[in-house]
Amino acid sequence: MPAETRIFICRSDNYGVLLHDPESGATAAIDAPEAAPIEAALKASGWRLTDILVTHHHADHTDGIPALKQKHKCRVVAPAAEAAKIPAVDETVREGDKVKVGSLVGNVLETPGHTLGHISYWFHGDRLAFVGDTLFSIGCGRVIEGTPEQMWRSLVKLRDLPNETEFYCGHEYTAANIKFARTIEPNNKDLAAREAEAKQEIAAGRPTIPVTIAEEKLANPFLRADVPEVAAGIGMAGKPAAEVFAEIRARKNKF
Ligand SMILES: [Zn+2]
Repeated sequence: MPAETRIFICRSDNYGVLLHDPESGATAAIDAPEAAPIEAALKASGWRLTDILVTHHHADHTDGIPALKQKHKCRVVAPAAEAAKIPAVDETVREGDKVKVGSLVGNVLETPGHTLGHISYWFHGDRLAFVGDTLFSIGCGRVIEGTPEQMWRSLVKLRDLPNETEFYCGHEYTAANIKFARTIEPNNKDLAAREAEAKQEIAAGRPTIPVTIAEEKLANPFLRADVPEVAAGIGMAGKPAAEVFAEIRARKNKF
């Protein structure tokens, strides 16, 4: 049976996501930004929380863990490199490890840059990826702990997932990201189409994610630092992709 998901806003612009295995009844929260909206989503769905899969240590992804753990006795899975900064961890994982949510199987991908130990969870069989604050719809996370080079490699790793993979990210930043992306690729028709689509979703009060990797490759400038026209467009023709990425990220920081 295919996995089911539920997505909802936590705090102000964080996403809470539940991943449910209908076969076993197991349900994982991807990160725990805030306990109350996660409890509300569990109640609305009738699902029982069995696991929390943590992408990275930031408080806006982990603050809800203690209350949820106390109530549901759920297992907390976290990146090995950041476990000391995350509350109530039961199991640590690293690149290549597999994480089961009932009968659903996720692969752990290390995607450092935003933080040094950041991981993403790729549920190959269900064509789902949970990418935390590494990749956003038409954007990417700030490079806080790692280097731009590291972040670029992490983004390429996610870009290389199968085209049909739907990814869920940690924040609703799409509208602001599109505004910035238009300054990098003003003539990108796929980006213009995404802008129209996002406006409709936001006006209807719906989330702009998930998005497929295929769609994202065409419109997200941070995944396109190795496209010659993108480099040329910002006056960096022929430069290494990691440098082009670093420049685009630096411009976004000031935008
Ligand atoms: Zn973060």
